[in-house]
Amino acid sequence: RAFNFSPGPAVLPYEVLEQASRDVVNFQGLGMGLIEVSHRSKPFIAVMDEAEALLRELMGIPENYKVLFLQGGASSQFFMVPMNLLGPGKKATYLNTGTWSKKAIKEAKLFGEVDVAYSSEDSKFVRVPAQNEYTVSADSEYLYLVSNNTIYGTAFPEFPVVDTMLISDMSSDILSRQFDVSRFGLIFAGAQKNLGPAGVTVVVIREDLLDRAPATTPTMLNYKTHAEKGSMFNTPPCFAVYVVGLVLKWLKKIGGVPAIEKINREKAAMLYAKIDESGYYRGHAEPASRSLMNVTFNLATPELEAKFIAEATAIGLNGLKGHRSVGGCRASIYNAFPIEGVVKLVEFMRQFELANPA
Ligand code: PLP
Repeated sequence: RAFNFSPGPAVLPYEVLEQASRDVVNFQGLGMGLIEVSHRSKPFIAVMDEAEALLRELMGIPENYKVLFLQGGASSQFFMVPMNLLGPGKKATYLNTGTWSKKAIKEAKLFGEVDVAYSSEDSKFVRVPAQNEYTVSADSEYLYLVSNNTIYGTAFPEFPVVDTMLISDMSSDILSRQFDVSRFGLIFAGAQKNLGPAGVTVVVIREDLLDRAPATTPTMLNYKTHAEKGSMFNTPPCFAVYVVGLVLKWLKKIGGVPAIEKINREKAAMLYAKIDESGYYRGHAEPASRSLMNVTFNLATPELEAKFIAEATAIGLNGLKGHRSVGGCRASIYNAFPIEGVVKLVEFMRQFELANPA
């Protein structure tokens, strides 16, 4: 198998792909494929329950939170959050640290007042703010942040300690490191990086927030609808939820979030050490804001980047091209990305540097 450094849609453990491929054809010996079994049947309800239970266990989600499996991608949460929690005369604070927060800000403005308390846009989003670089006004309903900025390769090393409720888009680093869920009112993540295949979005929401949506909120877009029906108000994305369950089982087996965090830190440290070793490669993110999941860098001689990417691809190091909006290179090293791939990339970077002096 190639080493897939692509930022999406998903990098999954091989054993999960194998198991899923068998179950798609014949699930639990039922003579029916997983995606054919009724979503109202006992075997499938067990799949949903198990995925939720595992997520609760691995993330340490407190009792007073609901776990929802929704559709519409993480992008739909950009409007569902303010649609349910803001309204005329209500205000929220947003930290603008990249493309995904910008999109969320645009949507939030449709529903209430938005205070963008910090933006690193002028510096090409090379950093996230320290807490003393912005203020959250006391009348804000929530403080919104993107925990890991997939495109720019930045991440909040720690989450803000504020009186205001936190809301976070954790699409590209959920389950990659330990944190205290109880400091957040709502967390969401498109599954397709650390959780499973595209098609399901996980929302973790504190129960008291379920009653805040205005009466005009469409049924499907109201969190309460899905919370009351156990994410079965309509047909759930059966296959995606099932594979999320398999990924969570795999994560539990290898030691859960503490174990994967250790591996993630090792993988990222190896790459950043290589980038910092000489002036040949240059990291995009400021060191204090560096992501564990998406390592963004340029070659000091940008004309060599296309050659770098082509030669890497030729030896099975795929998906290293940076996002079209920033260029350069990006190595996405999500939970399921094997450490051997990072070792191979670091060795390739060393050889490329020798063979192509700047
Ligand atoms: N938020 C973050 C941090 C992302 O990385 C992405 C996609 O990569 C999205 C949101 C958008 O997710 P979706 O394509 O599920 O709408």
